[in-house]
Amino acid sequence: ISVPTLTLNDGHTIPQLGFGVFKVEPEETTRIVSDALETGYRHIDTAAIYGNEAGVGAALGASGIARPDLFVTTKLWNDRQGTASAFDAFDESLEKLGLDYVDLYLIHWPAPAKDRYVESMKALEQIRESGRARSIGVSNFLAPHLARLLAETDVVPAVNQIELHPAHQQPEVTAFARAHGIRIEAWGPLGQGKYPLFEEPVVAVAAEAHGKTPAQVVIRWHLQMGNIVFPKSNRRERMAENFDVFDFELSHTELATITALERVGRVSAHPDDVN
Ligand code: NAD
Repeated sequence: ISVPTLTLNDGHTIPQLGFGVFKVEPEETTRIVSDALETGYRHIDTAAIYGNEAGVGAALGASGIARPDLFVTTKLWNDRQGTASAFDAFDESLEKLGLDYVDLYLIHWPAPAKDRYVESMKALEQIRESGRARSIGVSNFLAPHLARLLAETDVVPAVNQIELHPAHQQPEVTAFARAHGIRIEAWGPLGQGKYPLFEEPVVAVAAEAHGKTPAQVVIRWHLQMGNIVFPKSNRRERMAENFDVFDFELSHTELATITALERVGRVSAHPDDVN
């Protein structure tokens, strides 16, 4: 199976489907990421705060997969925002990953109370210029945070990675991002299992109609909406299930009925409250 790629605003490409490792225990990470790579995933999404970059790196190293065939993202944690601190944090991440570059480096949260995300983005710009991050972007930025970055730096982030699933689609920030060529990465694409998304009749009916599972229908909805996704599972059979989404297509009506599930709101923290 070949996963479709999307082109970012800097010309680099990203596999639209990847594998996320939030809440994957450090001691289990190498096994789990190795399973994901064997399943076929080539895009791995981690972060310094997940504490598992070393395990990701060990799995990448042991896989024998050529570096150009992998896409690796990590993120700058809030308490390292700034200039020198961001450079140091980035070096530590690269070291733990055992890589000489990452494909994508993100500011994990805007942390507006710190007021350092503009400065941090300028640091990431220098990291990108050094070639050690191919692309740079942000995560959990709302439209006003993005607007300020665009006004005060020369950088247009390649992506904004935000909480996005059928019950919480963030229309304002996604419209703003798309208008500026910023790709949307949807975190918590399955709602983190925090509401009964798979029991929603429109999801269940589409699953039945296509002979797929509700999780596959939701992942397919993301892909057809143009989102980049990296659902997480520790279980090999679910990794395979979540990867097996390229042999069917949702109709316009099915897409629209799933889009109409917007209502519940976020299942995780509000970006203005995370510092
Ligand atoms: P998710 O929506 O991918 O949900 C994961 C949970 O869904 C799993 O723990 C599992 O219980 C369940 N699940 C997975 N596959 C399933 C299947 N086929 N059938 C039934 N249940 C299934 O949530 P997530 O892990 O929070 O998000 C994905 C990735 O996004 C993370 O691993 C991480 O890389 C990233 N993320 C980023 C941020 C951020 O602030 N930038 C925050 C959270 C997550």
